[in-house]
Amino acid sequence: MKITEYIKNSQGKTLFSIEILPPLKGKSIHSIFNGIDPLMEFKPAFVDVTYHREEYVIRRRNDGTSEKISTKKRPGTVAICAAIMNKYKVEAVPHIICGGFGKEETENALIDLHFLGIDNILALRGDSLKTETTFQPEPDGNHNALELVQQITNMNNGVYLDLELTNPFPTSFCTGVAGYPEKHFEAVSDASDLNFLKRKVDAGAEYIVTQMFFNNQKYFDFVKKCREIGINVPIIPGLKPITNKKQLEILPQIFYTEIPQDLVNSINKATTDQAVKDAGIEWTIMQSKELKAAGVPVLHYYTMGLSEATRRIASDVF
Ligand code: FAD
Repeated sequence: MKITEYIKNSQGKTLFSIEILPPLKGKSIHSIFNGIDPLMEFKPAFVDVTYHREEYVIRRRNDGTSEKISTKKRPGTVAICAAIMNKYKVEAVPHIICGGFGKEETENALIDLHFLGIDNILALRGDSLKTETTFQPEPDGNHNALELVQQITNMNNGVYLDLELTNPFPTSFCTGVAGYPEKHFEAVSDASDLNFLKRKVDAGAEYIVTQMFFNNQKYFDFVKKCREIGINVPIIPGLKPITNKKQLEILPQIFYTEIPQDLVNSINKATTDQAVKDAGIEWTIMQSKELKAAGVPVLHYYTMGLSEATRRIASDVF
């Protein structure tokens, strides 16, 4: 079932959802199940599974020459989605990215998802490779999430890349896209970022999931600005509890999000690892309760594969 239908059917009640990462290569799928099991009692409406692009390393041979070796640390997004749907009878949402994919490969991946009965997708551009200064699409690939949404919408309308296919079957994906309450780091201004977001929605995106934020006011302002320019789809807040002191430095660097001074102070005041976790979880509970009271459609938690913190939050909020 489509995420938008879950939201509609919930009749204003805030739903619970989670995002997980595929296991590191060589690890068993049971590590995923072990992370989901403790959260199932809170009845997640859906489980997002991130997609991790191939990276390359240069390996020097003994003879002095070098070879480029592909490394993919977390393969298996689509298979994990199918396994989750099969085991838990819950919607799984694969993240699909532009980076590393030609349009033909994207089309084939979408056909696989359609055959597996996966109805929902989160369409993303993906980040540039560590070796690139700016995002480089494949020569025949989508340049940004807008083009990817357009490709999915075309397939939903029965338009595949090969225009000569006879009576191609229309897919029926419900497509979500990313939104940034604190602006995407590459966007020149809030206004241009919002305009691109509006174009993704106009192209067929039916809901938005936000980047993590620690100050609810940023989310409320973002939603207001979206509504002002005619973005009327559900905007799902993404939340992550801080669970160690290093994250105070790392999260703003990776996700371009500001951490409020009050949260920094309470994390810094904590003297044990457990006290740090408690402070981070308390903050996310406070955020969650305020967002829920404001009537957000879903509270979406970035679990990063660790269920304990999300479990404590969900026990208090749902
Ligand atoms: P886009 O919407 O394409 O935007 C990228 C930038 O280009 C923005 O600055 C935007 O303003 C600008 N822009 C957009 N359209 C145009 C245009 N037509 N012309 C010029 N500029 C334009 N990454 C992963 O690799 N795997 C994941 O699983 C993953 N999951 C994520 C889940 C969520 C909820 C979020 C918020 C992010 C996720 N990311 C993931 C990270 C994401 O891929 C990066 O933030 C990436 O840099 C941007 O992706 P996007 O889809 O927002 O890009």
